[in-house]
Amino acid sequence: MLRFLLILFLSAAALVARGPVYVVLWFDTEDYIEPAADDAALRLATDLDKLGVRATFKVVGEKARVLESRGRTDVIRALAHHDIGYHSNYHSIQPTPALYLRGMGWLDGAAEFERRERPGVDDIRRIFGVTPSCYGQPGSSWGPQTYRALLRLGIPVYLDEGEQVGLGEQTFWLGGMLHVFHMGRNLIRAELNDESHLSQTFEKFDRAAEALESGNGGVISIYYHPTEFVTTAFWDLNFAKGANPERSDWKKPPRRTPEDSERCYRILNRYVEHAKSRPGVRFVTARELPLIYESALGRGGDRALIARHMAEHQNFLVTDQSAFSAAEMLEILLGIEPAVVEGPLARGQTAFRGSEISRPAFERAKADAAGFIRANRRLPAEVWIGSEKLSLTDFAATLAADNGVSGAIALRKGNLEFEKYVATDAQRTFNWPIHPEGFSAPELLELARLQAWTLKPARLK
Ligand SMILES: [Zn+2]
Repeated sequence: MLRFLLILFLSAAALVARGPVYVVLWFDTEDYIEPAADDAALRLATDLDKLGVRATFKVVGEKARVLESRGRTDVIRALAHHDIGYHSNYHSIQPTPALYLRGMGWLDGAAEFERRERPGVDDIRRIFGVTPSCYGQPGSSWGPQTYRALLRLGIPVYLDEGEQVGLGEQTFWLGGMLHVFHMGRNLIRAELNDESHLSQTFEKFDRAAEALESGNGGVISIYYHPTEFVTTAFWDLNFAKGANPERSDWKKPPRRTPEDSERCYRILNRYVEHAKSRPGVRFVTARELPLIYESALGRGGDRALIARHMAEHQNFLVTDQSAFSAAEMLEILLGIEPAVVEGPLARGQTAFRGSEISRPAFERAKADAAGFIRANRRLPAEVWIGSEKLSLTDFAATLAADNGVSGAIALRKGNLEFEKYVATDAQRTFNWPIHPEGFSAPELLELARLQAWTLKPARLK
């Protein structure tokens, strides 16, 4: 008996020590052309209710309005029982976000996204009675300017898949938003067209869960579209390759047979049951994500450690207690209260003739940079030293290496490391049948590199 109790105690202790595994199950609820997709959303919501699992339905503004005009209060009510996110106002009607954001900067792009998208968010609020918990782009039509707009719209989580930016196949902070994005091995979908593949999916899920459990835990992301369960091709092929037909010319997607649909529902239910049966696995919604993660600002922060780190390279820093973005560390080095700020608007250039900066001039430059950050909640692209200037990265490296007492400070070249987390292939990452053929958006990746001053891993509480 004693031995049994001991084993019980030890295995309980082992369970406690394992990292938690959270599953985010989300549905891009977007098909406003095929009415059967309304029934699919209802069926998925009620099936999951029966399994005791809450999912996140990222709803397109036009889809919400269509549900309302079709009198589908049953669908609206069933989805509202789960979590409601946002998936753009019109999804695939041209121009999609990356198209119009590509030619814009940070501020004008954010303003334009907000102008186009606020009406959709307002409709979601009116129809579902909640502010959407998260946003994710249509297809791969991603753009970093959306972050600034989304935070203004009260949406703090970015939930989607894409390859433009990613960090260790886990949740991260960028531009003040909590991201579940580019999840790699932790994105695990069960193939809906072949039930015989399900055991392989279970194995894949178990392997990912084990890997997370043996570390600090993390998130597994699973996504579907309700329309996938009732159609065999996507509804928005109407808009393929940049096409923008009139509403009267929209064609409905081909339907699955009822038996086919039943198999799809069964596969998802079996997958959810499998995930749920694993001890320590918990399903969470996008709305719960900010509650299980530490807040956007790092705690504490050893100035000497941060100075050593930032003098060598500008990249985020993970310590035993916390995680800091390069932007946060710059704020700490400047002696200002860390706050969530935006990255610079442009890639600054150093234009400085000497190799040293006098102490008084450098102290004035520090005060100037601190003033800019406080006033704009944004990092400056360049810091002035009289009539000359340092790029932000050279300024950060120089500041970090300064001992604070010498009469002259040696100019130090920056070493931006966080940029490696942003993709460089601007065509592949924006590949989407709805974008015009050959579409590529290197400008958006460059904006993301500038915003990567704010990049860091998210830490579970
Ligand atoms: Zn979508």
